[in-house]
Amino acid sequence: MDLTTRTPEMIALLKELVDIGSPTHERTVVNRLGAIVARETKKLGAEIEIVSKSDVGDQIIARWGQGPGAILLIGHLDTVYPLGILASMPFKEKDDKIFGPGVLDMKSGLVITLTAIAALQEADQMPARPITAFYNTDEEAGSYESREIIEKLAKEAELALVHEPSDPEGDLLTWRKGTGKLKSRSRGVLPTLAANMKKVLMRLQSWRSISLPSKI
Ligand SMILES: [Zn+2]
Repeated sequence: MDLTTRTPEMIALLKELVDIGSPTHERTVVNRLGAIVARETKKLGAEIEIVSKSDVGDQIIARWGQGPGAILLIGHLDTVYPLGILASMPFKEKDDKIFGPGVLDMKSGLVITLTAIAALQEADQMPARPITAFYNTDEEAGSYESREIIEKLAKEAELALVHEPSDPEGDLLTWRKGTGKLKSRSRGVLPTLAANMKKVLMRLQSWRSISLPSKI
């Protein structure tokens, strides 16, 4: 299946998604992006379910068919970039590459999967099993509002594919690093306290290969 003829419309949609910008905690802006993704999935015949959240953007579930053995596609709408970054880092094409906030992580992934579904439909090759796409809006903050939904949808699915970028060679990635949060409270006198805290963190790092911030 040759998808190269679709490149111009893919780039146009990617630009539309990137030009909105979508920092995790800018709920209204993220919802504008969500509306575009909902529009695109509806165009492809999906049934949409919106799960509203009060402090992050609405989470979107798009379903093509119902029933067991679904293929689950997971993507996130939010990015780490603050509002206003587009002034200094606009969407641009250069040397056959596209640059801009969220292009790699992960708005191009959203465009690729939407395009793949459109192409499968046109070729009449949609899988016999249902497809569910879930778009969360708090991934960059740890998916604290969407974890429950992801777990529920994953249990209903036979296969889950995340739209995050592959490695530079284009291979399918079958695992990723995870994140965790540690909370520590200490009492003492500075700078002894700071020095001791640093020792504890270094110990943790050697124990579990945890990445620490460059400045402690
Ligand atoms: Zn990502």
